[in-house]
Amino acid sequence: MNAVRVGIGFDVHPFSDDPQRVLILGGVRFAGQPGLAGHSDADVVAHAAADALLGAAGLGDLGSHFPDTDPAWRGADSLRLLGAVAERVAAAGYAVGNVDLSVVLEAPKVAPHRHEMERLLSAAVGGPVSVKATRAEGLGAIGRREGIACYAVALVQRT
Ligand SMILES: [Zn+2]
Repeated sequence: MNAVRVGIGFDVHPFSDDPQRVLILGGVRFAGQPGLAGHSDADVVAHAAADALLGAAGLGDLGSHFPDTDPAWRGADSLRLLGAVAERVAAAGYAVGNVDLSVVLEAPKVAPHRHEMERLLSAAVGGPVSVKATRAEGLGAIGRREGIACYAVALVQRT
């Protein structure tokens, strides 16, 4: 059994046509910005982090743990979902080493909210989480501002 394991996570959500949807990234509400479509609150950053943690612990993917047909997670706060994932990772015998995230989006600017995102995500995960943001430079669906994507890596250690 390896003492240290890594996992990768990826998620993407399109922007919603529903003007009531609020953009939530890493648990932070971006007031006045178009929201993302999804079954839960569509927090693409929390979902990518959760997927990476599950992968690192060898627990499969997010969809198998929290199916998007489950009414319990409709409109759900994805930080709560991320916390539930962290509990399952701990139950499998792993502690979170760290999680690193790259959000890919054209707008809005993440930098002013980065520390708050890191604080909320770290609290949910029980370990250090770092957030970076990059633009798609106008290329592809993300570049055309059709949605937001996020990549994640997570490291866990046997307890
Ligand atoms: Zn998602």
